[in-house]
Amino acid sequence: MTTPSLSLTLTAEHEMIRQTARDFAQKEIAPIAAEFDESGDFPITTIKKMGALGLMGIEMPEEYGGAGMDTIAYVLALEEICKVDASHGTIMSVNNSLFCNGIYKFGTEAQKQKYLKAVASGEKIGAYSLTEPMSGSDAGTMKSRAVREGDVYVINGRKSWVTSAPVADYIVLFTMTAPEKKHKGITAFLIETDQPGFVRGKKEPKLGIRASATSEIVFENYRCPVENRLGEEGEGFKIAMTVLDAGRIGIASQALGIAEAAYEASVAYAKEREAFGSKLGEFQGTQFKIADMKTRIEAARLLIYNAALAKMNAKASGGRYTLEASMAKLYASETAMFCAHQAVQIHGGMGYSKELPVERFFRDAKITEIYEGTSEIQRMVIARQELGLR
Ligand SMILES: Cc1cc2nc3c(=O)[nH]c(=O)nc-3n(C[C@H](O)[C@H](O)[C@H](O)COP(=O)(O)OP(=O)(O)OC[C@H]3O[C@@H](n4cnc5c(N)ncnc54)[C@H](O)[C@@H]3O)c2cc1C
Repeated sequence: MTTPSLSLTLTAEHEMIRQTARDFAQKEIAPIAAEFDESGDFPITTIKKMGALGLMGIEMPEEYGGAGMDTIAYVLALEEICKVDASHGTIMSVNNSLFCNGIYKFGTEAQKQKYLKAVASGEKIGAYSLTEPMSGSDAGTMKSRAVREGDVYVINGRKSWVTSAPVADYIVLFTMTAPEKKHKGITAFLIETDQPGFVRGKKEPKLGIRASATSEIVFENYRCPVENRLGEEGEGFKIAMTVLDAGRIGIASQALGIAEAAYEASVAYAKEREAFGSKLGEFQGTQFKIADMKTRIEAARLLIYNAALAKMNAKASGGRYTLEASMAKLYASETAMFCAHQAVQIHGGMGYSKELPVERFFRDAKITEIYEGTSEIQRMVIARQELGLR
């Protein structure tokens, strides 16, 4: 296990991006969050504005269209966006973590110039497609195929649950080139969604993060040029998991933002609402909820900073930070669910009402325990690392 130093001093740049994200979320996202949650429409206008502010490729170097900042800057900004609306946060995290990270680490210079620049700058929308209808946690069982024919790979199959797929310009796709090798037969490709053979499938109606469009995608003899292969044949699983390490830090920050929103709403309500002649906050039963929420939030924050620092150290040393990322995601997502649950309870009937955002926090929190590896998978990853198992 890497043991990064926990001495963290936020720089003026960190404070600046946090404030930028906070101001934007309050001014531009807060007024529309409930409406887009209700309609399920993709908030393209605000997402483009986030791109213009440098929020769609925070850690990417400026030469590739990014903001050239570090992982701490990324987690601070994502937390602020998610504190107001987790749907915007999902779109932001897929662009930043799942699309840009993979190309930056494994892409050729030509791929970076064409795909990374466009997505990191927010000009284009990126997506990441690993999951299939019959293959989620167990990626080695995927059914889609890419078969090489000269200078192209012919891709066929169906992928599911692709965040941003209904609007994405480019997708990092993971598919089988050698099925008999299972995980070691997976290869990654860069897909252009305006090419023949790419079909957008049905959009998923969802419990939460409803404004982050999610859909199936279908490949019908899609011809992918060899130069659009990301990494080597058979390297796809390694790329997918490396990228998910980064992604899990993002989802942990999303969870922290939701937890904080639920907590702040609860504190405000407990100070205002009265029952039996006292403020709710004067009852010990409410105080225990507030104390547990606050303690878990601060513990989650430290695990996230720990993982972000581990990622920054790994960038210098070339190592991995799998354990730190999984611990942050596991704990922060369960904290989000815990805090959202307590917040609905503290609000009583109003917690169940669409007039307040608390019910949205409750619905949005759940996804953080599912995508980019469920809580069960995070526990497996953590335990395997500790037990020295593969
Ligand atoms: C809104 C949304 C957005 C998504 N976005 C994307 C995306 O952009 N790209 C993408 O590729 N995927 C995406 N996903 C897919 C997501 O990552 C998967 O749903 C998730 O990894 C779980 O896979 P599954 O749904 O197939 O569940 P399964 O793998 O079928 O798991 C079902 C249950 O069994 C448990 N389980 C499985 N194996 C074990 C085990 N060995 N031990 C104990 N328990 C186990 C799981 O933890 C879970 O509780 C998204 C999903 C959702 C809901």
